[in-house]
Amino acid sequence: AKRRRGGRQICFFNQSIAQAVRQRELLLEQVEQALAEGRFVLHYQPIVDLPGGNTVAVEALLRWPQPDGSLRPPGTFIPEVERHSRRLMLALGRYVLTSALAQAAAWHRDGYELAVAVNVSAREFLEEGFLSGLIELLAEHPDLPRERLVLEITETAALEDLPRAQAVMQSCRALGVRFAIDDFGAGHASLANLRELPVDRLKIDGAFVAGLPGASGDRAVVQAILAVAKAFGVGVVAEGVETLAQSQMLQELGCRLMQGYHFARPMPASLLGERLHAERLARSA
Ligand code: C2E
Ligand code: MG
Ligand code: MG
Ligand code: MG
Repeated sequence: AKRRRGGRQICFFNQSIAQAVRQRELLLEQVEQALAEGRFVLHYQPIVDLPGGNTVAVEALLRWPQPDGSLRPPGTFIPEVERHSRRLMLALGRYVLTSALAQAAAWHRDGYELAVAVNVSAREFLEEGFLSGLIELLAEHPDLPRERLVLEITETAALEDLPRAQAVMQSCRALGVRFAIDDFGAGHASLANLRELPVDRLKIDGAFVAGLPGASGDRAVVQAILAVAKAFGVGVVAEGVETLAQSQMLQELGCRLMQGYHFARPMPASLLGERLHAERLARSA
């Protein structure tokens, strides 16, 4: 009886594995097709400088429009693509960089001094051709100041191959391109590693901001990150700022750059352009 049950379990197990594999293959095919048909879009979320509140940078965030009009968030497909198809991840990453750079150049032509942050996965970043690909893409926008491009990588991505990450970052920075460590505090980065990485900015993971102003543990973590950033001479952006109270506490702790629903949600480039325009009018008023 035992053996029979075991057999059935194995059979059930195989079926669910087969199903999962099939589902993943379907997802990868759909991503591939959407990419080929130019159906992905980037939304842009403001990063504001307080207390003035001006948009000094934006983060490009990938969105996948669905037939029902909804936008599929990147967390539901990027990790799968990154794990299972190197080729597709590189293609997706290239789309994101191409599109974000074109948008950055357009805003630059409109006279906005705006940095555009682009998320880069470990797969892309540690890939042989990343640097040459980036140089090629930048060459299409000779007038765009290179420091307008900020590449966001996670600690985990950098730690996968620290010497290589260091080398790529140094070469990119020689071009003028800047780096932010995304989701800082959430991974396994040690301060020793941070010291080895030529970064310009740390992004405090939203999970710590969420505990402000009440949770003393989260406040301690945020304070520690701000102190580390100061010691290393790098900037800090607080992510996931959802309330006025959070933004006030962050300001009290000495953090000026913030990103989160309290200020603005990610939005299409056209809306972001309207926001920039309105801010410019307000400044000159
Ligand atoms: P991330 O780079 O840490 O991006 C911040 C995420 O927080 C975004 O989620 C953003 O929409 C969300 N967010 C912003 N403000 C708030 C807030 O006040 N509260 C909360 N709860 N969330 C907020 P999104 O767009 O779903 O992206 C999730 C992750 O997917 C990103 O995290 C990034 O790791 C990855 N991702 C997004 N776009 C790309 C891309 O073009 N390429 C790559 N490789 N990864 C991307
Ligand atoms: Mg990011
Ligand atoms: Mg983040
Ligand atoms: Mg994140």
